[in-house]
Amino acid sequence: MKLVRPVRIAPGVYQLRAIGAKVTALFGEDGVVLVDSGGRGSVGLISAGLRALGSSLEMVRLIVLTHYHPDHAGNLSKLVAATSAKVAVHRQEAAIINGDEPAPNPYRHSLVAGLTKPFINKLYGGPVAVDYPLEDGDSLPDLGHVQAIHTPGHTSGSLCLYVAPHKTLIVGDALRHRFGRLGPPAASVTRDPVEAMKSLEKLLALDFDIICFGHYPPLRKDARAALQRLVQKSG
Ligand SMILES: [Zn+2]
Repeated sequence: MKLVRPVRIAPGVYQLRAIGAKVTALFGEDGVVLVDSGGRGSVGLISAGLRALGSSLEMVRLIVLTHYHPDHAGNLSKLVAATSAKVAVHRQEAAIINGDEPAPNPYRHSLVAGLTKPFINKLYGGPVAVDYPLEDGDSLPDLGHVQAIHTPGHTSGSLCLYVAPHKTLIVGDALRHRFGRLGPPAASVTRDPVEAMKSLEKLLALDFDIICFGHYPPLRKDARAALQRLVQKSG
């Protein structure tokens, strides 16, 4: 498999290529925490990315999902099988991940949701037991300096991860960064766009310079000021 260099974000924080959304790797003293799992079929890419950093799938202790959408969570069952990692997700999406509740279709428009249903359901890799249902403000079990921030809107249990020592925020799909511009999540696949904007306002309480996105290049400086401009413009 062609090796794609991981992108360094901050000390011990790297983004790895995957199918679908990117995976962020956080390196701690005892192992690696992955944020999101990528879409189905991403295990080889994630393994190659970790090896390029002198690590391996065996070092992965925990996988935290930013939300249940298949481009972020579809590879979870295979990744857990390949790593024996524990799984953390916001409490509100634990029942979707462990299979007790069906995954709501990401498309908000009911007609589009109906048309895409047979296809979307194939993108999920099967139920996985959730070891840590997270609440707003929780520190990660294996990485105490990383905090889970509940940012509902894109989905009801969307999480951002805040790495305070490196002033870095990992936002999943809570924000987009297209063509050098920061924007709210795509309305077509966002459960509640008004709530999503309120969550972005909440993030302004944090001190950060860098944002990592699920699908776009990182914003490497003055990220909080850019978010402040976006919130003011939308208010
Ligand atoms: Zn999403």
